[in-house]
Amino acid sequence: MPPAHPFDDDKLKEECGVFGVVGVTDAANFVALGLHALQHRGQEAGGIVTHDPETGFQSVRRFGYVRDNFTDPATMAMLPGSIGIGHVRYSTAGNKGQTAIRDVQPFFGEFAMGGAAIAHNGNITNANALRRELIDRGSIFQSSSDSECIIHLMARSLQKSIPDRMEDALRRVEGAFSVVAMTRTKLIGVRDPLGVRPLVLGQLGDGWALASETCALDIIGADFVREIDPGEMVVISEKGVESLRPFRPRRSRFCIFEHVYFSRPDSILGGRSVYETREAIGKELAREAPVEADLVCPVPDSGTPAAIGYSQQSGIPYGMGIIRNQYMGRTFIEPTEQIRNMGVRLKLNVNRALIKGKRVVLVDDSVVRGTTSRKIKEMILDAGAREVHFRIASPPTAWPCFYGVDTPQREKLLAATMSEEEMRSHLQVDSLRFITLDGLYRAVGEANGRNPAEPQYCDACFSGEYPVEPADMIEQGFRMKSAAE
Ligand code: SF4
Repeated sequence: MPPAHPFDDDKLKEECGVFGVVGVTDAANFVALGLHALQHRGQEAGGIVTHDPETGFQSVRRFGYVRDNFTDPATMAMLPGSIGIGHVRYSTAGNKGQTAIRDVQPFFGEFAMGGAAIAHNGNITNANALRRELIDRGSIFQSSSDSECIIHLMARSLQKSIPDRMEDALRRVEGAFSVVAMTRTKLIGVRDPLGVRPLVLGQLGDGWALASETCALDIIGADFVREIDPGEMVVISEKGVESLRPFRPRRSRFCIFEHVYFSRPDSILGGRSVYETREAIGKELAREAPVEADLVCPVPDSGTPAAIGYSQQSGIPYGMGIIRNQYMGRTFIEPTEQIRNMGVRLKLNVNRALIKGKRVVLVDDSVVRGTTSRKIKEMILDAGAREVHFRIASPPTAWPCFYGVDTPQREKLLAATMSEEEMRSHLQVDSLRFITLDGLYRAVGEANGRNPAEPQYCDACFSGEYPVEPADMIEQGFRMKSAAE
C-alpha cells in the first residue's frame, strides 16, 4: 500500500475514481490507463472487472497504485474482453485506513439474468439504515463498503433487466453517487439527481468510455462527448447510447470543491478547463484580498493556477518559491518515525535565493487542519522572507463532507473553531484571507455569485448547508448547522 505522507494529512481527499469502456479490443488495458489518469482520486487500492464470452467475468483487485498492479502482461492476460470497468479508491465509509481487499471495488453480483459489476464514486448517506434493512431480510454482506448496498438492492428488485434493477436500487439510495457498471454486453453510467460527483462520456472509434474526469479520456485518445447529466442513466450497448431519466428532476448541486482542488487541472468541468477556473479563482482572490508584496508563490501543486491568477490580477511577480520533490512517494516506501517527523520538508523545499528579503504571498487551495500551513510559513521565514501573507483559494473549510470526500471530524477543522483572525494568529502569519463563497461562485462562472435561496453547487463544507441530509451521521451524533450559526 502506498505510504501515508504527513503532508497529505492536511488535505481533503477525494475518495474514488471510476472508469469503464466498451467496444474495444483488450478493454482492460484501456481501463488501466484510465485509472492511472484518475490516480489522484484514490491511491489506496484499485480493481478492474472485464467480461469475455469464453471466460465470463474476470476480476483483479489489489492494494496500491495502478502502475504497480495493472501493467504486467500476466495480470492483464487475466482480464480478457472488450468490456471492462475499474475503480480507484482512497477509502469510503467503512474501514478507513484498514481496508480489507473485500472492500476494494468493483463489486460483482450474479443475478438470474446474468452478472453485473459496479464501481461507485461518492457516498451513500443512508447506507446504515439500508444495510440494517437488507441484513434483516437475509442479505449477506461481503464488505464494509456502503457501495455494496447497491448490489443487494439490485438482487432484491423484481425487475427483469439489470439496468431496470439498477434504477430500482438507486431510487432507494440517498447521497452522492456516480456509478459505472457493466453487464456482459452493456456499459452503464448513472449520476445521482443532484450530480454531486462528476461523470463524463467519451467515444473511441466504435467504442465508448465513461470516466470520472476528462483527463482519463485523453489518456486513451477518446473524444470527450459530454458530461452525464445529474439524474441521468446511460446504457451503452452495440446499439449505441440510450439516455434514461429515472429520478425526479432536481436542481443540480455539483461539488464546488472539484473546481478548487479535486479534479485534475487538465480536466474539463462545466465546459471550462479546471486550470482556467483556478486561475479565475486566483484573480478573484486578488480583487477581494489585495496586499502589498514582492512575490506571489503557490503552495505546490494545486495552488499553482490560483497563484498565477493572483499574480496576473495584482501585478505582483510570480515565482516558484517552494519546490516540490516529485519523487517523495517512491523514495520512502516505509518512512521511519525520524523521517516522518521531518514533515513537509520531505515533500517541499524553499527556493531561498528567490524568497530572501521578500514580502511573500503564499497561495494555497485550502486550509484544513492548518498543520501544513504553519510548517510552510516557518520554512519561508527560515529562508529569510520579510513577511508571509496567506491567500486561500477556497472559503474556510468549517464542515465535514459526507459525499465521498475524506474530511477530519468537525472539531479538527481549523475553521470550525476559529475566526479568520484567530486562524491568522494561530498560523502566525502577517495576513490570512480566504476567497469568499460569492467570490468562488463568480470564479466558477456564476456572475451573480451564490443564490442563497437555491445554491447552484454543493458547498456544504464551507456553508454547513447540506443538500442531502446525512442521515447516518446524524444518527451517530453529528449536529447540523443551527439557525443561529
Ligand atoms: S461538502 Fe464540499 S467537498 Fe463535499 S461534495 Fe460538497 S462541496 Fe464537495
